[in-house]
Amino acid sequence: MREALDYAQSVVETVREPLIVLDGDLKVVSANKSFYQTFQVNPKETEGRFIYDLGNRQWDIPKLRELLEEIIPENATFEGFEVDHVFPTIGRKTMLLNARQIEQKGKRSQLILLAIEDITVRRQAEETLKKAHAELEKRVQERTAELATANEKLREEIEGRKQAERALALKANELARSNADLEQFAYSVSHDLREPLHVVAGFLGLLAKRCQGKIDPKGEEYIDQAMKSVKRMEQMIDDILSYSRISTRGQEFKSTDCNAVLDQVLEDLKLAIAENGVLINRDPLPKVMADSTQLARVFQNLIANAIKFRGDSPLEIRVGAERFENEWRFFIQDNGIGICSKDCERIFLMFERLHDKSKYPGTGIGLAVCKKIIERHGGRIWVDSEPGQGSTFYFTIPVHTEKPAN
Ligand code: ADP
Repeated sequence: MREALDYAQSVVETVREPLIVLDGDLKVVSANKSFYQTFQVNPKETEGRFIYDLGNRQWDIPKLRELLEEIIPENATFEGFEVDHVFPTIGRKTMLLNARQIEQKGKRSQLILLAIEDITVRRQAEETLKKAHAELEKRVQERTAELATANEKLREEIEGRKQAERALALKANELARSNADLEQFAYSVSHDLREPLHVVAGFLGLLAKRCQGKIDPKGEEYIDQAMKSVKRMEQMIDDILSYSRISTRGQEFKSTDCNAVLDQVLEDLKLAIAENGVLINRDPLPKVMADSTQLARVFQNLIANAIKFRGDSPLEIRVGAERFENEWRFFIQDNGIGICSKDCERIFLMFERLHDKSKYPGTGIGLAVCKKIIERHGGRIWVDSEPGQGSTFYFTIPVHTEKPAN
C-alpha cells in the first residue's frame, strides 16, 4: 500500500493536469499542485477528506458519484466522461474525467487515480466555432437566396430586353417599309401631278396671250398670279420628287474629296456670289466616303441659303471641317439675318419656312433634303444661330462610312 501510495504520489506530481488519488472509501489520499491551484483548495482541507466534502461540497457532483460508485466494486476504469459543473470558487467548468485503479505489480490496488482535464476553453471555442459556422451557413444561405433572386430578376430583365429588342426590330422594319411606301407614294403622286399642272400652265399661257389688251389690268393681274402659283407648285413638286429620290436613287459611297465638291458648288453659284459680293473663306476639307452628288447638294443648299438670307452688312461665308473622334464635323457659317433659337429644329422639317415667300423665295424643302442626305450618310445636321448674329450650320459624316444608313 505504501509503495502504491508513493508511486501514485510521484505520478500525481509529474502530471500537469489536475490529478487526485482516492482510496477505496473515496477519501483523498493526495492531489497534485495543479489540482489545488485549479480548484483553489489547500492540501489541509483536502487530504484525508471524503471527495464529495471537499471545498464546501463542490465536488458533490451527481454524475461523479454515479461513476465512482460504479467502478469501485467493478474494479474498473472510466474514461472521457464529460461533466459540466458550477464550482462556487471558480465558476462553471466543463471537465473531462478519467479514472483508473492503480496497478501494483500486476495487481490492482484500492487506490483510484482521478484525472481532471479542464476543457472549458476548448468547449467554448468549439461552441463559438459552431455558432460562427452556423452563422456563416445562414449567411451563405441568405446570400445564395439573394443571388438566386437577383439572377432570376436579371434573367427576367434580359428576357424583357430581348423582347423589347425584337419588338423594336419589328417596328424598325415596319417603319422602313412604311417609309419606302411613303416615298413611293410621294414619287408617284408628284409624278402624276406634274402632267395636269403642265396642262394648266399651258392653257394659262394661251389665255394670257388671247386676253392681252382685251381685259382690264385686274384680269391680267389675276392671270399673272395664277401663273406664279403654277410655277411655285411645279417647283414644289420637283422638290418633293427629288426628296423622295434621296434614298431610292442615291449612289454608292465612294471616297470623295470634299474640296473638289466645294469647288464645283462654288462654280455653280458663281453668279450669285459675284452679284452679292460674297466673300468666301474656305479651310481645307477632308476626303470622306460619300455620295458626291448628294454631298454637293448639301453644300449647294446651305451656301445658297446663306446667300439668300444675307443681312445688311457685306456677306461673308466660311466653310470648314474639324475632326471629332470618329467623325468629321463640317460647318458653313454666315453673317446673315440669323434664326431664332426656338425655330432652329423645325426648319429641317418639310415645308417649314420662317420668312415671307415674297421677300425670300423658296419651298421650304432644302434643309429637309440636307437632313435626309446627311442621315443617309450616318451623320447629323443642326444649326447654331441667333437673330442678327448670323448662322452656323453643322453636319457630321462618320470617318468610316462604307454603306448608306437607309
Ligand atoms: P427655303 O430656303 O426654300 O425656304 P430651306 O429648307 O432651305 O427652305 O430653309 C428653311 C428655312 O430656314 C428658310 O425658309 C429660312 O427661314 C431658314 N434658313 C435657312 N437657312 C438660313 C440661313 N442661312 N439664315 C437664316 N435663315 C435660314
